[in-house]
Amino acid sequence: MIKKYYDTDCNLGFLDGKTVAIMGYGSQGHAHAQNLHESGVDVVVGLRKDSASWAKAEAAGLKVMEVPEAAKAADVVMMLVPDEIAADIYNEQVAPYMKEGDVLMFAHGFNIHFQFVKPAKNIDVIMVAPKGPGHTVRSQYVEGKGVPSLIAVEQDYTGHAKDIALAYASGIGAGRAGILETSFREETETDLFGEQCVLCGGVTELMKAGFDTLVEAGYEPEMAYFECIHEMKLIVDLINSGGFAMMRYSISNTAEYGDYRTGKRLITEETRKEMKNVLTEIQNGTFASEFMQEFSPAGGRKAKFLATRRVESQHLLEKVGAELRKMMSWLKK
Ligand code: NDP
Ligand code: MG
Ligand code: MG
Repeated sequence: MIKKYYDTDCNLGFLDGKTVAIMGYGSQGHAHAQNLHESGVDVVVGLRKDSASWAKAEAAGLKVMEVPEAAKAADVVMMLVPDEIAADIYNEQVAPYMKEGDVLMFAHGFNIHFQFVKPAKNIDVIMVAPKGPGHTVRSQYVEGKGVPSLIAVEQDYTGHAKDIALAYASGIGAGRAGILETSFREETETDLFGEQCVLCGGVTELMKAGFDTLVEAGYEPEMAYFECIHEMKLIVDLINSGGFAMMRYSISNTAEYGDYRTGKRLITEETRKEMKNVLTEIQNGTFASEFMQEFSPAGGRKAKFLATRRVESQHLLEKVGAELRKMMSWLKK
């Protein structure tokens, strides 16, 4: 089992006298910057001059600079910009200002593990990755709690890379919940696998296939939407709070019996074999190079990605869902 750390294992003193630059002020950036600042860490935020987030960060009492200025000011740089542009931003606007003994940080291992970023040998390279969205990282901190987070050390030049990772994790509140140690490789590969096979790709295709099957058989799309899409949250919330056992305790015996009888007919040996193929494409870099190619300005220019998004958004389930959600006053925009 994985080793866990808590605040008592962390020493925020490892960030004393250091300036931490948070590049980006989106989902993760705003939470890391404000939490660290309130934990007494010297923080600057790095953004583009025309960023709409600039004023927001200043309103939160943070120092804001353009990315290269923030990099110059910093001893520790956390890259919280979108993964597909992080390498370009790092290589052009950050790397020239990294000095010996500085620390480069990520919240996802993608760019380091697949070597889109090749950091200098005389700096530390570490990861602190909260296992939750940025707004939860922020709201839990404000409540005196935290979100469990991963740490990893890729390069330990100073001999204190792990101490810094633990200090940073503690500074964003993670030490109140628990810090788990992993590697860049493990975090990157499991993250990509989970989102493709289960959380995003797997779940949406499963819901869509169920919806289509009912609609093609002549049932009303509204009924299909309720059964195959809307009710997913109910089940997932139960699993989330008490595992499969608690979910199965809550549902009817009819539902539980059907669960055991039918699930394995859908997720067959063939499906499991295909999951292994997906994992192989993640491990051998096929997915990473395809993704970066599609998103590079010189490559695919996101043509396939945007076309797919457009086609998906026109599916009947989206139209039906939009109408039904209007009937649910608790579902705020
Ligand atoms: P967001 O898309 O929410 O935020 C990205 C930020 O980067 C924005 O503030 C944006 O500026 C800024 N930005 C975009 N382009 C540039 C640029 N050219 N120069 C400077 N700043 C730029 O990203 P996330 O917070 O979701 O993701 C950041 C990292 O955290 C990623 O590595 C991701 O994998 C990881 N992560 C994300 C999680 C999540 O729940 N979202 C969970 C765990 C890890 P502007 O505000 O002006 O748009
Ligand atoms: Mg991911
Ligand atoms: Mg039912």
